[in-house]
Amino acid sequence: MTDIRKIAFIGAGNMTQSIVGGMVSSGYPAEQIFVSNPSSAKLEKMQSTLSVNTSQDNAEIAQQADVIVLAVKPQLMKDVCAALQASVDNLSEKLIITIAAGIRMPKYRQYLNDDIRIIRVMPNTPSLVSKGMSGLVADERVDDADKAYITEVFDGVGETLWVSDEDQLDILGAVAGSGPAYFFEFMAGLQKAAVSLGFDTAKAREMVQQTCLGAAEMAKASELELAELRAQVTSKGGSTAKGVEAYQNADLDGISETAVKAAVKRNQEMA
Ligand code: NAD
Repeated sequence: MTDIRKIAFIGAGNMTQSIVGGMVSSGYPAEQIFVSNPSSAKLEKMQSTLSVNTSQDNAEIAQQADVIVLAVKPQLMKDVCAALQASVDNLSEKLIITIAAGIRMPKYRQYLNDDIRIIRVMPNTPSLVSKGMSGLVADERVDDADKAYITEVFDGVGETLWVSDEDQLDILGAVAGSGPAYFFEFMAGLQKAAVSLGFDTAKAREMVQQTCLGAAEMAKASELELAELRAQVTSKGGSTAKGVEAYQNADLDGISETAVKAAVKRNQEMA
């Protein structure tokens, strides 16, 4: 990483552990990373495995940082921000990053300060295995150097995609944020089908997960449209054609559209 700043993570949960793990393995100096959490057990684990600075006091680490990452559950965000607002000086000079779903930027301005520079990031669970897809959106006060900095941080746990506004972030959240659950649902269906035809669960799971991984890798490596890739493995009159026909008859595209629209609507309701 090229731009090293003092960064404080408020909340040492699964996401923080992954992001900080990605940063340290990309060469970010651990002494510039600060993590706070109410329970000491998570902090001790991060301290011993990643050698980062830890504290049970959010304000203490936020005060000395250039960048504050808000990584607590959305329902705690208001109280956590209010406590920071009351005890941290010069919040408007710090870059604020939030990874909480649903809460829009005006709320953070209300909770923290009208002049904050803020970036919302929507990571997804595959970040936990460094295969994340993170969407990012910045307030107009955020400059290109801030954007480049945070892009590098989240590139450590997968890929990053900047969007132009918070409405787009809701859509990205409904596709990439919720997407792993859709794929698990689909994979579970394929697994059940294999089991119903006589396979044991372990073998059915192995064939489904490796096929899913292989298809994703092929799609990523290829320049071809998905429909062309699908056509390449579908000989006319063959068994795959019969299977694909069943999905098309059930309107899989329509189901996906309905699912994404429902998730977008829910994201908008929670905002
Ligand atoms: P988590 O529950 O694993 O971590 C939250 C951490 O915050 C816990 O360690 C908890 O002890 C700590 N905490 C509670 N109260 C605190 C306080 N007052 N001060 C400091 N820390 C406090 O959750 P997570 O999965 O790491 O998610 C963190 C945030 O990221 C959430 O807002 C979530 O919506 C968002 N997010 C998560 C994912 C995901 O895939 N896990 C994806 C997108 C967004």
